[in-house]
Amino acid sequence: MAKRRKLYEGKAKVIFEGPEPGTVVQYFKDDATAFNNKKKGTITGKGVLNNRISEYLMLCLQDIGIPTHFVRRLNMREQLVREVEIIPVEVVIRNIVAGSLAKRFDMPEGTPLPRSIVEYYYKSDELDDPMISEEHITAFGWATPPELDEIMSMSLRINDYLSGLFLGIGIRLVDFKLEFGRLWDEDQMHIVLADEISPDNCRLWDVKTSEKMDKDRFRRDLGDVEEAYQEVARRLGILPESGPGDMPGPDTLQ
Ligand code: UDP
Repeated sequence: MAKRRKLYEGKAKVIFEGPEPGTVVQYFKDDATAFNNKKKGTITGKGVLNNRISEYLMLCLQDIGIPTHFVRRLNMREQLVREVEIIPVEVVIRNIVAGSLAKRFDMPEGTPLPRSIVEYYYKSDELDDPMISEEHITAFGWATPPELDEIMSMSLRINDYLSGLFLGIGIRLVDFKLEFGRLWDEDQMHIVLADEISPDNCRLWDVKTSEKMDKDRFRRDLGDVEEAYQEVARRLGILPESGPGDMPGPDTLQ
């Protein structure tokens, strides 16, 4: 990595100062965490795959008119993105019961929901990302009511589009998490999709076998984590180009 100023280090990514004002570089690490940092590990090649997968999905979403922070991929592990003010709210969209929803209501994982559910969580490691309502978001000033309307309608549109995209390659989009940011263009403020969309923050199940193809393989020690991420990239038609040391092993780039 070239010498440059690190602005922030998260669990799966590092953010560096970008080459031009108003841009930052997202570096995708192989580090994986779960259960609010209580479980830690490394998934070899994950950063490379997530960089590619997220690039692909962000470009698809831009094509249908969703504004995103994505500018371009720079190399195997880095992408250039617009610098945004992150709204401290995680937006979770669910189509099928799984994970914390299954636990909270003691429902079997895999139950289809009669309609998509949107949930909000406050981004705070110290507080363990508590679930919040729209009232908390507007009362505490994390987003205004019009911003929240925009976030909600963009999230549902993204869900519709991505559900169809994944279904086309034999994958069910069970649930996923999005983050949004504010971007100033002249005097105008826009809400844009930020962060990443990858198997780290989506639940993806094979349509035929219901096999998990996402971070649950790491969370639940199911094994073959890299292989699952790779299979998602392969089905999207975007396996990364090879690079020294980045994707070791003979069977990773077939
Ligand atoms: N998710 C995420 N980051 C979080 C919490 C959840 O990316 O901090 C994603 C997760 O991968 C899943 C969806 O949001 O696709 C719903 O997660 P859930 O609330 O079921 O929590 P979990 O079971 O992951 O703790």
